[in-house]
Amino acid sequence: MENKAKVYFVKLNELEKIRSVLPQFEGKLGLKCHFGEEGNDAFVSADLIKQIASMVNYPPMLETTVLYRGSRSNASSHNEVARKHGFDFADIDIFDGEEGDNSLEIEMSRENKNGEAKTYFLGKNLENYDSLLVISHFKGHIAAGFGGAIKNLSMGLAARRGKLDMHAGVKHQVTENECTICGTCIKNCPV
Ligand code: SF4
Repeated sequence: MENKAKVYFVKLNELEKIRSVLPQFEGKLGLKCHFGEEGNDAFVSADLIKQIASMVNYPPMLETTVLYRGSRSNASSHNEVARKHGFDFADIDIFDGEEGDNSLEIEMSRENKNGEAKTYFLGKNLENYDSLLVISHFKGHIAAGFGGAIKNLSMGLAARRGKLDMHAGVKHQVTENECTICGTCIKNCPV
């Protein structure tokens, strides 16, 4: 039997519309958002998210750890960044664990175009929630062109193993006769 989620898409500046759909959310609600990279202000402000959270009694705010090295690559420092950016009005659940390796395995019901059945690795604590209120911002993205609501749900809900899977097709390549040995790639590569 197909078990499709009901999805509402509302623009972030339509606060009354957001308020009107919230009663449709069933069971335990989590608020998936993005706390912003340290030193960066390109994310939905804590003030606006607080305004929306207040409409549903401040549910836990959900996020996962990131793959690259930095202040959001483990749960405790990710929490600190969130608090510093003003996300101090509700509990925070970094739901793939301290190191991002706490996974919930989901078998895909259909095969992909290569005829393979796929397993997705999402953050384990996601199983504690029945509905998600997802607040996404838009960004330019080096691999996809754009990142927004879908990225916030796919990469944003994945545990470390799931994120590694999604990045597995991306490999750097050097055209040796064009390399000037400037060292820029070495300085910028996190691994
Ligand atoms: S960034 Fe510089 S060192 Fe790295 S591959 Fe390109 S030209 Fe070569």
